[in-house]
Amino acid sequence: MSKTLDILRKKEESLLLATYGRYPVTIAEGCGSRLRDLDGKEYIDLLSGIGVTNLGHCRPEIAEVTAAQARKLVHVSNLFYQEEQLELAERLLKTAHFGKAFFCNSGAEANEGAIKLARRRQQRLKNRSAYEIITFEGCFHGRTLATVAATGQAKFQDGFAPMPEGFLQIPWGDPQALEAAVSEKTAGVLLEIIQGEGGVRPVSARFAHEVARICRDKDVLFIADEVQAGMGRTGKYWAFQHFGLKPDIMTTAKALANGLPMGAVLSTDAVAPAFVAGSHATTFGGGALVSAVAAKVLEIMERDGLPQRAAKLGAWAVERFRAVQAACPGTIREVRGMGLMIGIELTEPGRDVWEKLLQSGFILNLTQERVLRLLPPLIIEKEDLERFADCLEAILKAG
Ligand SMILES: *Cc1c(COP(=O)(O)O)cnc(C)c1O
Repeated sequence: MSKTLDILRKKEESLLLATYGRYPVTIAEGCGSRLRDLDGKEYIDLLSGIGVTNLGHCRPEIAEVTAAQARKLVHVSNLFYQEEQLELAERLLKTAHFGKAFFCNSGAEANEGAIKLARRRQQRLKNRSAYEIITFEGCFHGRTLATVAATGQAKFQDGFAPMPEGFLQIPWGDPQALEAAVSEKTAGVLLEIIQGEGGVRPVSARFAHEVARICRDKDVLFIADEVQAGMGRTGKYWAFQHFGLKPDIMTTAKALANGLPMGAVLSTDAVAPAFVAGSHATTFGGGALVSAVAAKVLEIMERDGLPQRAAKLGAWAVERFRAVQAACPGTIREVRGMGLMIGIELTEPGRDVWEKLLQSGFILNLTQERVLRLLPPLIIEKEDLERFADCLEAILKAG
């Protein structure tokens, strides 16, 4: 470990709550799909800050709109009408079938908003005392108390009892379990179309359609968590669009403002009246600065056809990684994903492989101990993915 890293580690121990296990790297600057650490070493970024900087780092167009808006107006609160927020809403709502938006600051906060909207729809528009939200094994919905309850994993709940009531978790991919779990208490079903944290696991088309059907039949709300999979990453603006689905509520965050903190809840016109003035609020959400940046992000995605690019390049990359799998028998269990959201599941715990990739200059993430998770910027060049595939093959062959 370099001397600077050691100094930063000690300093951090004395200053910060110890919530993070850090990678042994300090990034100093970024440009496009490249990052550079304090020693000047260059990395190919295959993670985008966990699916956030989808347009690449420090893109000039984004830097310009950020600077210009920062000079004009940053924040006045939601006590005021804000043109920037409306322009963003217009662009965002055009990407899908939703009628109304609510802006917030993170993925967890977007899911909190969606849960509140679902409960209030049942309790105020339908006069039902329904409140329960059904989620699925392996899911991840955030770190607030309610979203940790929704996430349902012991490791995220440890020491935080009691959990908020009204969350029920059932097996992933089992429509009968869902059918049996929905009751008069159920307000909504919260689903990641492709689980991110859970190991890059896409739903089957059949299960996705069954979830939508069961929700419709039982009049409970279908809520899609698109925080990680959305914003063009899987090859469409939203992952549910691969299956022609129309969720009642959707949440987004990570890539929405390409690195500035922002989230949103989108709702159909039918569900929207559940919120009235005063039902829900946030001080920062949808401020002028983040809204102007997010509107630019959507403009660029549309103009440059980035969802389509992700679809094409992702399909190529999955095939390329499957060729690595074939060339290195017994090392890779499965290569799966949608667009540029790709998981390479190893047959053994992958910490060593991950470390060697990092040393070789590739930044990615290891989830569920053995899944190499790739969330590269949507502007990444094919050659960079090719370099990664070659490097992975060499590492796996060397054992
Ligand atoms: C990251 C993530 C969240 C939480 O987002 P934060 O911005 O960290 O609160 C929620 N859902 C999914 C699917 C995520 O990947």
